[in-house]
Amino acid sequence: MTAKVFTVENRKGGVGKTTTAVTLGVGLARRLQQNGGGNVLLVDLDAQGDAARGLGLDPGDRCISQVLLGDGGLEPLRANVMPADRAGSGGPARPNLFILPATDRLSEAKEDILTELALLAARSLRQRWSDGNRHLVNVLDEKLGLAKKAFEYIIIDCPPTLDMLQQAVHQYANYAVVPVKVDFHGASATGRHTSNILEDQAAGINITISAVVPTFVNARHNLTKAMMLNLIHTYGGQVVTKAIPNTVRVAEAPASGGLTILEYMPDSPAAIAYEDLVDRVYSV
Ligand code: ADP
Ligand code: MG
Repeated sequence: MTAKVFTVENRKGGVGKTTTAVTLGVGLARRLQQNGGGNVLLVDLDAQGDAARGLGLDPGDRCISQVLLGDGGLEPLRANVMPADRAGSGGPARPNLFILPATDRLSEAKEDILTELALLAARSLRQRWSDGNRHLVNVLDEKLGLAKKAFEYIIIDCPPTLDMLQQAVHQYANYAVVPVKVDFHGASATGRHTSNILEDQAAGINITISAVVPTFVNARHNLTKAMMLNLIHTYGGQVVTKAIPNTVRVAEAPASGGLTILEYMPDSPAAIAYEDLVDRVYSV
């Protein structure tokens, strides 16, 4: 088994990346459960990402930095991945959802991590060069490769800037989900949301943009229709997913006991729109 790996990314902050990542995590885990089982791993790559807190979880000492600085074996994963299930404490049941959280430690360890990954890349490049194999080096696979064997889906909640990790993340992943905030600024920057991905595709990295998700959509604003058409024109009708409405319900959900909108208000338009995205990702 090899996990399907999705990034949730956009170079802008506050566009709904974390909301989309945790909601996808919950939704995919449910789909798997209804269809014979399997597990989902949410990976938080943003030190301020709050993916764990959004699910009502306290990461304690766990942090992805310890996996990125670890030996690539099972032990660092075992020590830092935590279950997202809260059925035991009166919270939502998420029996097959797990998270590798990020805390302040990730930003503290950033220099060390980049050094570690650069050394790994250099070593691996020498090796491959002498083997006559000049493929790009997948450094994240050296640290997180085992996770691909244990989970059906891996969802990576990205920070606005991946910096030197960008190529590594795109090599590790198969697909990108790009939330785009449909406001005046967001739409006028159309095309820039995905420029990092296109850059890496041009460099030979195999990553597919599987969904562009319009977020914070105000159906009644005059400009909304034009902005949605603009997105479809840029990315294609197959890639642009159902609009996620701008609603306080979505923002309330994590503050209401660490829930996603799927758990907080499953019949709301926002939950229905997110279910649509879950179906898309599930069937990719
Ligand atoms: P990012 O990870 O891109 O920085 P977040 O997912 O953290 O963005 O969202 C930023 C803020 O906007 C959060 O407070 C979140 O609860 C809120 N939010 C996200 N999606 C919506 C939405 N569709 N409608 C209203 N508020 C939203
Ligand atoms: Mg975020």
